[in-house]
Amino acid sequence: SAKREGRGIFRFFAEEMNVALRERRALEADLRNALKRGEFALHYQPQVALDSGRLTGVEALLRWNQPTRGAVRPDAFIPLAEEIGLLPEIGAWVLRTACADALRWADVKVAVNVSVHQIHAGGFETLVARALAETGLPAERLEIEITEGVLLTHTDATVRTLEQIRALGVTVAMDDFGTGYSSLGYLQRFRFDKLKIDRSFVASLHDDPRAAAIVDAVLGITRALGVRANAEGVETPEQARMLAERGCDEAQGWLYGRPVPASAIDTLVAERLPAVAAE
Ligand code: C2E
Ligand code: MG
Ligand code: MG
Ligand code: MG
Repeated sequence: SAKREGRGIFRFFAEEMNVALRERRALEADLRNALKRGEFALHYQPQVALDSGRLTGVEALLRWNQPTRGAVRPDAFIPLAEEIGLLPEIGAWVLRTACADALRWADVKVAVNVSVHQIHAGGFETLVARALAETGLPAERLEIEITEGVLLTHTDATVRTLEQIRALGVTVAMDDFGTGYSSLGYLQRFRFDKLKIDRSFVASLHDDPRAAAIVDAVLGITRALGVRANAEGVETPEQARMLAERGCDEAQGWLYGRPVPASAIDTLVAERLPAVAAE
């Protein structure tokens, strides 16, 4: 009967939910141990000036190498870490490690992703100041990328915190601009030094006039506000050309390099040196 069938389906879903719940618990347990087991690593992705192709910065991207699960993507564990209260601790490690690594790369900025919740948590400016003081990285070499989250809540406190870190000399970028929670209202409330144009617009730049129009509009905003523009997810020379033509300042993406361990950035910086010296 339909009723029995319904019960069967319910049992099936209940079973599925149990599996999902058990899996989540196991992931949670592994995540709680990850930091002390040294399973986190930072990879760095080059950011280049579109006019000269010069390396200007690197973005630190968190990697979790879990022995049984393999490489876990940040999108798969950062929301969970946030939910169970582990992000402050992980975030502090990221900040400190990125600053320490960046010391080796003269004239290259390091961009660190920070969720809005980390800023809301309080004491964020102290955390930044301490990471700089303890590693000796000049503040001008650090950029904070604000990722996902509702900036509009806790507005006053968030504005104050962002202004405090900007007063240190640290720059602030708005990540994934044009999607999700980011909105024009933020541009009025918060002072950013850079907007990062989301990958989704860059991806359809060559075959969608609407994407091109949106990119033009964002670049108009960055020029009017006097802030830098970065295009994310640049994969083809054609995308790079179209962005350069439109006056975008910098780009990152697979065309220039995938996220790689710090040692690979050492090589990149070393190779770049003669060219810079010859200028
Ligand atoms: P995001 O900050 O917008 O980083 C860009 C993402 O796009 C990265 O994914 C990067 O690997 C990927 N990507 C870069 N170039 C290309 C390209 O040309 N094509 C394609 N298809 N993808 C490209 P990833 O490393 O998986 O990071 C995902 C997100 O996780 C990041 O997005 C960021 O929001 C978050 N995240 C990463 N590390 C941290 C961290 O340390 N703290 C916090 N709070 N969030 C982080
Ligand atoms: Mg980012
Ligand atoms: Mg992004
Ligand atoms: Mg993102």
